[in-house]
Amino acid sequence: GPGEAGGAEAVVVGAGQAGLSVAWHLRRMGLVPGEDAVVLDRGPAPGGAWQFRWEALRLDDAHKVEDLPGMREIGLSFATADGARPARDIVREYYDRYERAFDLRVRRPVRVTAVREAGDGRLRVETDRGALLTRVLVNASGTWGRPFRPYFAGAAGFRGVQVSTPQYRAARDFAGLRVAVVGGGTSATGFLHELEGVAAATVWVTRRPVRFTDDPGAGVAAVRQADEAARAGRPLPSISGGTGLPATPRNLAAVERGLLVARPMFAAIEPDGLRWADGSFEPVDAIIWATGFRSELTHLAPLGLREPEGGLRVEQGRAVRDPRVFLAGYGPQASTIGANRAGRTVARQVVEHLRAPAGV
Ligand code: FAD
Repeated sequence: GPGEAGGAEAVVVGAGQAGLSVAWHLRRMGLVPGEDAVVLDRGPAPGGAWQFRWEALRLDDAHKVEDLPGMREIGLSFATADGARPARDIVREYYDRYERAFDLRVRRPVRVTAVREAGDGRLRVETDRGALLTRVLVNASGTWGRPFRPYFAGAAGFRGVQVSTPQYRAARDFAGLRVAVVGGGTSATGFLHELEGVAAATVWVTRRPVRFTDDPGAGVAAVRQADEAARAGRPLPSISGGTGLPATPRNLAAVERGLLVARPMFAAIEPDGLRWADGSFEPVDAIIWATGFRSELTHLAPLGLREPEGGLRVEQGRAVRDPRVFLAGYGPQASTIGANRAGRTVARQVVEHLRAPAGV
């Protein structure tokens, strides 16, 4: 019963860019961190998903992290970070300093396993460290824990190595191998750059033709498409498919020398390589699946928020089916800029909901 469980006004699941931004705004709007607003994260350290990214990933032309709200007040900015250091170290250190400067009291490691009706109008948040009752739930659990791998005939019989983006550690793990990189986003191109000269050969495979562009309008269109899908409760589209890849000198030179020239999707995986529909075959020893992610929402399943279309209906970061549930960093908010904006929009609605008379 509720006796065993602590209580909160709002529980935030996840302390990545989205969860921290929400927590900062809630604090500013008067909720006491750690008491009224409790942030839970299953990770061992600050940094959200960034703490787990591969060693070679840098904040550069392809990867830019937006400053969190209030970050400049405490003398921190990603804009002046040392771009030669691994992004995962920079982000972990900055989030750590941020959490401490604003005393956000993130509880970790705490894994949320299920969110269900408490029976008294509140929600019961079950974790591997006990349960919490709350009036509002803000889910900011990101996507890193749910890499998506498309189905291909023969994949189980492949004799080589297969990894998805979260399992990728370093190019040296693929030294001397013939490597296929699947996927049309910046993770895929990053891997190809790193593998050049280390792997014996690389082949790049994408579902759609690749577009290198500097057009900022492409990003706006991709966010709009994600917003339309979220409002309709459809599965979310791929962001990189909509934005195109950055037309940096490094990428354009790699296109010139043949490194970043994509082949269309193969039709089947054979024990020793890839087979295309036209009969052509490419022997490979390893496949890296940089094929995107899905939102990690299994812990919300008891609330029954899913639509028959396969997604959740979300408007302005709020679940249409349950006004006590917010999704920060979901769909159109799935970038560090989007996650920041989500913080403000979601926190405002949370506070309005909490101030409304009970039962509303
Ligand atoms: P996350 O950072 O994933 O945080 C979610 C947190 O929730 C994690 O700390 C996790 O431990 C926790 N969590 C999840 N489930 C549970 C649970 N059940 N219980 C408790 N805790 C839980 N965006 C950009 O704007 N710029 C970039 O350069 C950029 N580069 C990227 C590179 C890669 C390889 C990838 C995959 C994505 C990149 N993105 C980039 C998108 C990026 O994911 C977002 O920008 C942003 O970091 C996501 O923040 P978030 O808070 O939504 O998620």
